[in-house]
Amino acid sequence: MKRRRPDPRRAKIHRPYDVADIAKLFEVHRNTVRSWLKQGLRAIERVWPTLVLGAELRRFLTEKQGRRKRRLQDGQMYCMPCREPRSPALDMAEYVPLSPTGGNLKALCPECETWMYRRVRPSDLDRLKAILDVTVTPADEPLRQTSHPSVNHDSNTPG
Ligand SMILES: [Zn+2]
Repeated sequence: MKRRRPDPRRAKIHRPYDVADIAKLFEVHRNTVRSWLKQGLRAIERVWPTLVLGAELRRFLTEKQGRRKRRLQDGQMYCMPCREPRSPALDMAEYVPLSPTGGNLKALCPECETWMYRRVRPSDLDRLKAILDVTVTPADEPLRQTSHPSVNHDSNTPG
């Protein structure tokens, strides 16, 4: 599933666009354009069918993408209790691979000391390792092993 981010600069500032134009311009579905209208993209008033000025499209998309970017910068994770993006405490994080295409990054919030989680791909991980001290922890060992007593026969089994 490829997802390109619409480039706001594709819109010509003085040109009005209808929903179909916008969909074609940014290579998105018309329903996506309709959801943008619900999210705050302003159409020209009292005009039917809906028309949006290129300048407004640029404003809306730039803001929308800016918001997303501000939320999580490289190396940051979202802390639920703080409702803020945070850089992990001591720049330390733990990576738990879940599949060949991704896993969970886990780190402590430096403010409230709650665990923060972020879904990452192995390609993101390489980048994150440049910023954070990442420990890779294999998933699913401790719990499963303790349910198989035979694995632990070297430990102090009573007589
Ligand atoms: Zn926090």
